[in-house]
Amino acid sequence: MEAGSAETEQPLEMEVEEEEIAPIYKEPPKIKRLEESVVNRIAAGEVIQRPVSAVKELIENSLDADSTSISVVVKDGGLKLIQVSDDGHGIRYEDLPILCERHTTSKLSNFEDLQTIQSMGFRGEALASMTYVGHMTVTTIMKGQLHGYRATYRDGVMEQEPKPCAAVKGTQIMVENLFYNMIARRKTLQNSADDYPKIVDLLSRFAIHHINVSFSCRKHGAARADVHSVATSSRLDAIRSVYGVSVARNLIKIEAFDDESSSSVFKMEGFISNSNYIGKKITMVLFINNRLVECGALKRAVEIVYSATLPKASKPFIYMSIILPSEHVDVNVHPTKREVSLLHQEIIIEKIQSTVESRLRNSNECRTFQEQTVDASTSSLRATQKDSPKNPTPPSSQTPKSEKVPVHKMVRIDSLDPAGRLHAYLQATPSSQADKSSLASIRSAIRQRRNPRETADLTSVQELVNIIDSNYHSGLLDTIRNCTYIGMADEVFALIQHNTHLYLANVVNLSKELMYQQVLRRFAHFNAIQLSDPAPLADLLMLALKEEDLDAEGEENYDLKEKIAEMNIQLLKQKAEMLQEYFGIHIDTNGNLSRLPVILDQYTPDMDRVPEFVLCLGNDVDWDDEKICFQTIAAALGNFYAMHPPLLPNPSGEGLQFYKRRVSSNCHQAGGSLKDADDAAVESEYDDELLADAENAWAHREWSIQHILFPSMRLFFKPLTSMASNGTFVRVASLEKLYKIFERC
Ligand code: ADP
Ligand code: MG
Repeated sequence: MEAGSAETEQPLEMEVEEEEIAPIYKEPPKIKRLEESVVNRIAAGEVIQRPVSAVKELIENSLDADSTSISVVVKDGGLKLIQVSDDGHGIRYEDLPILCERHTTSKLSNFEDLQTIQSMGFRGEALASMTYVGHMTVTTIMKGQLHGYRATYRDGVMEQEPKPCAAVKGTQIMVENLFYNMIARRKTLQNSADDYPKIVDLLSRFAIHHINVSFSCRKHGAARADVHSVATSSRLDAIRSVYGVSVARNLIKIEAFDDESSSSVFKMEGFISNSNYIGKKITMVLFINNRLVECGALKRAVEIVYSATLPKASKPFIYMSIILPSEHVDVNVHPTKREVSLLHQEIIIEKIQSTVESRLRNSNECRTFQEQTVDASTSSLRATQKDSPKNPTPPSSQTPKSEKVPVHKMVRIDSLDPAGRLHAYLQATPSSQADKSSLASIRSAIRQRRNPRETADLTSVQELVNIIDSNYHSGLLDTIRNCTYIGMADEVFALIQHNTHLYLANVVNLSKELMYQQVLRRFAHFNAIQLSDPAPLADLLMLALKEEDLDAEGEENYDLKEKIAEMNIQLLKQKAEMLQEYFGIHIDTNGNLSRLPVILDQYTPDMDRVPEFVLCLGNDVDWDDEKICFQTIAAALGNFYAMHPPLLPNPSGEGLQFYKRRVSSNCHQAGGSLKDADDAAVESEYDDELLADAENAWAHREWSIQHILFPSMRLFFKPLTSMASNGTFVRVASLEKLYKIFERC
């Protein structure tokens, strides 16, 4: 070993080797009997782990002594002083000498008694323990006595004969300098946050269970008590006075019981918070046979029900008191009796869990659920997103670009070159524009009031609206009106919650139908979206036609396309007046598309889809029959305005590949030092501008789905009967069943 730690550094292996060569022979250590004072101090450290555990033991003693008033004073988090005073039955004079010896108790005499024990203490260890780790003074007086006695204790022994003294009814136990002889414990406790809040919490718990006892707790020297409860007959009053009105007014009473002696026998009653109670952490106050205990399994079971049924109120306040036959509870599993184990624990927990669940579901359905739907923007899924806007505003995708770009570059030429997206045509509505459009809507509303038959005159439109209004699915209507939007599950399906059911809803189908319905309802009363630069129909149609058959190349083909485009332009020019008047689609005399209708307020369609729409107007509309004509135009608009996934692939998934620059791979091939090539590849790996565009488009769409589509559907939408069966709505799970699965995980 000496050599190993020589002047110069020695490899570690050397040391090991040397040790292996010359192992030190160790004799087994000799077993000795520990001194009793050491044993007692070790045991004391177990029972009294920290100041709050001493307070708990003292309060339990006071409760065992039938007190009706218990007050606690604490100094320095309990390290300097803990003083518990009660008005209980007191302690006999002749018991004082052995009061603090280990295993002296008035509550248990033989092991069988443990089976039926009702008192909180029984081990006769608490007071003894405290005298091993602190200095104790006891003052007590029994009923009918003229004076009381005071005695001090150290290491389990009464120091002197008890001294007569003046006293009020009951017992006062004072523990000073806790852990004075356990330096490490004292240091860690001094360094950690002090125990006073824990003591306040403890007293609060006792106070709402033992409502016929008044409790108070204050810091030494403080005039005001931090817990102050008066004896009452109403549990709710007690909770109100201790935990405050905000807790008390959001509670639901709960009860459960079982009397099948074959499985489990218990009775539970308590209060649990409803969906309006939003806590920072779960508060579970649990008493089993009037003992304040913890039961991790029950707590978890309740927590699971809350997060499944009331995700936004998933940190509940719970008070439960469970009474069981005392022979079913093993109170002796923990030195401080903090944890207990129950016979039939699993069955009991399951029964309590399902009671909690049905109480929550009922209260949810009749009242609170609606309140949860109001602010879908703060739904938990949303909140976890990094960049979720605080005040939701659409991501800016409409900022007009300053440079003017030739039209053929502005529009998408093919899906691999989406550089010129039509957003450039869009004008951010200046305020005067907004005024104008609201003015227009007021005018049209007035016109309609003066002339109520104006729209009704067009019976074909009215017929189409009637079809919508008479053929909807009432169950789906209810779902849509009362659902909470959770988030997008993939590019097409949104996850929504209705009561305790989860659904996947196809937002493309839904938005298409909603737009269609809105076109018919707003028929002839549209506000306008103004394109900043009118787009020539010819360019739009050519784009759309090229898109239709990408592989067909050649002059001949081009000529054909031009011919088709020309025909369509003529047709649309011819219909321009009608398109403008009824649908707000404005085509000027030069054959440029300059305005589109507002179908849902604040929503502008994806301008990449304009070419397709124009072609669809030319090709797919039946202009002969009025009713079919209106229907097909409304459908074309519906398809155009629907919330399709943006044409740019979603960069947040595998779509990211799409934005890799091709140049970066050239760079690799071009040679040069490997490092240079790597650097270049890193620098220009992605087409940042395009990537930003794509991110914008996807974020904008998601925003629109949440803030425009779902709210508008709640107001206007009549879901088609077919939507229940054609995959537009798919019920994925019911939460009651899910939490049973979560529980097993
Ligand atoms: P245990 O509570 O397990 O019996 P303790 O060490 O806590 O053991 O208390 C020992 C005994 O002292 C109790 O059994 C009880 O008789 C008596 N005692 C303790 N505190 C009080 C009190 N506040 N009022 C009356 N008697 C008390
Ligand atoms: Mg006790």
